[in-house]
Amino acid sequence: MRYLLKGGLLYGESPADVLIEDGRIVKVGDVSEGADEVIDLKGAYVLPALVDPHVHAREPGQEYKEDLHSVSQAAAVGGYAHIAVMPNTSPPVDRPEVLRGLKAKAETLPVRMHFVAAITKGREGKELVEMGLLKEEGAVAFSDDGSWVSNPAVMFNALLYASHLGLPVITHAEVPELSKGFAHYDPINLKYGMKFRMPLAEELAVYRDVRMAEITGAHIHIAHVSAKESLEVIGTFRERGVRVTVEVTPHHLLFSTEKIPFYDPVFRVNPPIRSEEDRRALVEALKAGFIDFVATDHAPHAPYEKEAPLTDALPGIEGLETAFSALYTHLVETGEVSLKDLVSLMSGRPARFLGVSVAIEEGREANLFVFDPKAEWRVKEEDLASKSRNNPFLGEVLRGRVILTFAKGSLAHRR
Ligand SMILES: [Zn+2]
Repeated sequence: MRYLLKGGLLYGESPADVLIEDGRIVKVGDVSEGADEVIDLKGAYVLPALVDPHVHAREPGQEYKEDLHSVSQAAAVGGYAHIAVMPNTSPPVDRPEVLRGLKAKAETLPVRMHFVAAITKGREGKELVEMGLLKEEGAVAFSDDGSWVSNPAVMFNALLYASHLGLPVITHAEVPELSKGFAHYDPINLKYGMKFRMPLAEELAVYRDVRMAEITGAHIHIAHVSAKESLEVIGTFRERGVRVTVEVTPHHLLFSTEKIPFYDPVFRVNPPIRSEEDRRALVEALKAGFIDFVATDHAPHAPYEKEAPLTDALPGIEGLETAFSALYTHLVETGEVSLKDLVSLMSGRPARFLGVSVAIEEGREANLFVFDPKAEWRVKEEDLASKSRNNPFLGEVLRGRVILTFAKGSLAHRR
């Protein structure tokens, strides 16, 4: 099968046609050859496919929220060709057999899936998994995401083994004893003894894990950074040469407690949406190249699990389908971040983290997406490919839309 993508702008800059034959990019530039299908892009942007190293697919065990098939559909709609899924499933991915089963299922899916294995058995924070066997089975990293590994001896050993294996450890850095509440710390209500998820909880957890990475020589990756103090800690250790990478989510970049209705459970997430000062610090760190990449932390939940009082609603925000348009609307169109940088933060840089390539070059497998920067669309429940609806952009009009995605060499989504 030969596809000719005609009249697009490569990286949003230079006009170039792209000829794809049997899953490979065979020509980029002025193409005069024919094709089985010619798709007129009318000046839309041809961009390397997005890569998300932090996704919750909920399979096995919670397929009523999402499953490998629905999450890969949502990813394709969002312009993604590679996603890494987290192991906090039921059972968790803490044994090679579980990973093997998921890998077999993922083979036929439209996007390429990578698997993060748990750090501890049952994600209980007590006993390490067989890290070597899980690496042999294809695990790309280790994480007890959703929980921090509280026991320092267990985390220390995990980092030691991970450094020998050459794989990163991804930490959900929140000290649980300081994260008993459901919202960002608020100095007014703290006086009345209310519990919060304090930025200090993140700062301390980041400090311990990064310091241990320094001693063990491991690669530590900080998931979904949210507090400005954490950035300071990371900066200090980076200057000392520690291998510490960090991701930020679209929701922590775009929302702050000052700007969201406090009672709306769709915004309940761990770590919580923080202050405008924190949000600004994250955006500035992103602009400065300090943040390694953007990851969605796509965390689907069934409507009844979110449509509850704030204290009872489950934490998590889904967002594979809206991530690129939301950031394009609020950071690129406003002139804060260039299109080139956003693409790098959501494609090239996370691709490097997972050890894959999505470059649009002759000879490579086709992993790319087409983005219409002029499209305006309202995010509607009924249009979401994800099984869940806990998307904070529902009802909002976003600028720019993914209109076509090639993943694993095949046409994975077309609007
Ligand atoms: Zn997490």
